Amino acid sequence: MADVLVLRAIRGNARTLNLNSKKLQQMPGAVGRLTQLTSLQIKNNLLCQLPPEVAALSNLTVLNLGNNNFERVPQELKYLHSLQTLHLFGNKISEISSDVLDGLENVIFINLNNNRLEHIPPEIKKLQHLEKLSINHNLLKDVPKELCVLQNLRELHLGNNQLETLPEQIGFLTNLKELHVYRNNLIGLPEGLCRLRKLRILDVAGNQIQSFPSCMHEVPLQELYCEENPLLKKEPVIAIQDREILSLKEMSARIILSDVQDRDSLIRQQIHHYPEAKAILSTRNICALCGKWFLDMWLECVKFVDVKKKMKTSSNVQLLPVKILLCSYTCFNQRQSDMFGVAVQ
Ligand SMILES: [Zn+2]
Repeated sequence: MADVLVLRAIRGNARTLNLNSKKLQQMPGAVGRLTQLTSLQIKNNLLCQLPPEVAALSNLTVLNLGNNNFERVPQELKYLHSLQTLHLFGNKISEISSDVLDGLENVIFINLNNNRLEHIPPEIKKLQHLEKLSINHNLLKDVPKELCVLQNLRELHLGNNQLETLPEQIGFLTNLKELHVYRNNLIGLPEGLCRLRKLRILDVAGNQIQSFPSCMHEVPLQELYCEENPLLKKEPVIAIQDREILSLKEMSARIILSDVQDRDSLIRQQIHHYPEAKAILSTRNICALCGKWFLDMWLECVKFVDVKKKMKTSSNVQLLPVKILLCSYTCFNQRQSDMFGVAVQ
């Protein structure tokens, strides 16, 4: 049956071919004679590999290999230089080899939902035209920072995975409009998220998030989904303050951080000889109250932002806990009335 369809397509010099749901265990090699083909649908079959003849489909822009039995992204795809849309959902894929990505430089949309991927290779950065990447329902443990160089990326779907963090560099995805990371194990979100000024939809439901990055309320979101997270609540608790004693490291760091702000500082002139110290000091925080620099998070406070009024975002939460860092109890005791300390349970 499939062979008849392919032969008919060859005779008619077809540009599209539909071989969906034909119980195929192999793609007919004659497909390679359809060099004018731009769209090939062959989902819902039993394929686990592609014939080498596929390499001849140099005009193919859409390929749907969804719901088959592939265990890796087929190597033959690297010859399909015109490919723009690639569906590989519903397979058993646990591996993307980096050389496949070499040939997919024109791809705009990849759908790898419902597979078994644990990692995205760093070579993903080669897909410079990628606008939409969907890897929902996999086993992803991390997101490579190299993904964050994809300047054209508009939608990133990584829901239902095992992510614990997102890279700080996510802030470089300046064209991102939608970020879906629901049902992971995220314990927080990177501050870099605040740089995504085109972000309209953020879905972080079903994670372990307690509070949001400090400038989150400045991102003009239209939709925010954050249900099923242990978000901090605005509830009064009694707290006893211990006397404040800084560690020696923190004390020295604060002295140096204060000193290097002076243009004539000797330490400022010499610090580049000590790259390790420089790296440590570069992780400094700024006190939200006195503006002084400090190293380790001393006191984490939150401010509650009214999502509907202040952000004009549609969401199922009314008050969004947004992080604020303070340098000392002195500042904590002088804080404004809208800043709340976080109770440790
Ligand atoms: Zn302070």
